[in-house]
Amino acid sequence: MEAPVNAARLILSACLTLLFIPSAHAQTPAIKVTLLGTAGPEYFPDRLGISTLVEANGRKLLFDVGRSANQRLYESRVNPKDITHIFLTHLHNDHYEGLPELWMTPWFLLGRDHGFDLWGPEGSEAMIAGMRAMFGHDLEKRVNKFNPIANLEIKVHALSEGVVFEDGGVKVTAFPVEHDDGNPAYGYRVDYAGHSVVLSGDTTLNENVVKYGTKADLVIHNVIAFSERLSQLPEMKGVLAKLTTPEQAAEVFTRAAPKLAVFSHIVTKELNGAKGLDEIMARTRAAGYGGPLTMGQDRMTIAVGDTVAVLPPRSLDDLPDLDSKLQVFP
Ligand SMILES: [Zn+2]
Repeated sequence: MEAPVNAARLILSACLTLLFIPSAHAQTPAIKVTLLGTAGPEYFPDRLGISTLVEANGRKLLFDVGRSANQRLYESRVNPKDITHIFLTHLHNDHYEGLPELWMTPWFLLGRDHGFDLWGPEGSEAMIAGMRAMFGHDLEKRVNKFNPIANLEIKVHALSEGVVFEDGGVKVTAFPVEHDDGNPAYGYRVDYAGHSVVLSGDTTLNENVVKYGTKADLVIHNVIAFSERLSQLPEMKGVLAKLTTPEQAAEVFTRAAPKLAVFSHIVTKELNGAKGLDEIMARTRAAGYGGPLTMGQDRMTIAVGDTVAVLPPRSLDDLPDLDSKLQVFP
């Protein structure tokens, strides 16, 4: 019976996705979301570190900077040097290990002419100071009139619950979540032009995600699923408790009722590949969530406006070189 059930699931998933693909004449979305990387810390061939780009009214807001976020920006036709605002959910390494690359490489290679504003939990200031120390050689020897040190400035903003950024009608609100040894940990809500996108960050089932995600256009949520064998191991129970199981996600989505729910930061062990993703979707459905749901994919974009439209990753064909200060990205 397993094969027909899987086939039915695949058809259902495809139908739900197709419902959200807009016509070629769709209006420019109020908010455009690009899932740059959708993995947790695990290595997968097709998923890189967690990082999500939210674009609204010309602002490019980057939420977390996981492994190879720079590469995914480039592949998404976004010049990494254009990132100006970075929001970290917490200080587990898989959420900011791409930061040094985003900080240094566009500075010396792509002619970035500005620093960053960065929002992060307690400890972010020390982390940035440590990063500056780590790259002390470059800061001392590589600085010149083409690569001024001013363009490496990072202004760190402390996080607490409430509005942390507001510019051009784009508002970012931070809210605390629960991530065990990842605390203090935050989720975020972005509002613009009457539309909203909520990122759970790394958390177990948390009332704040329900509160801020209620009636949002889009909720992007972490998920964790292990094989039955691993789920039974006492040492794994603590790991599972740090993040959100498909059953817990179903509860969040059912109560918040967003126009679309998307999984990103997908943590699986012994459930890799399509089988694991299929199981996550099936368990979420079996737990009672029947609304719109999509499994995130690296470089997938979601256009949020009067409709919420999922667009598959763009082809990597015809990507131009991006290795010169003179390069104008199309
Ligand atoms: Zn994580």
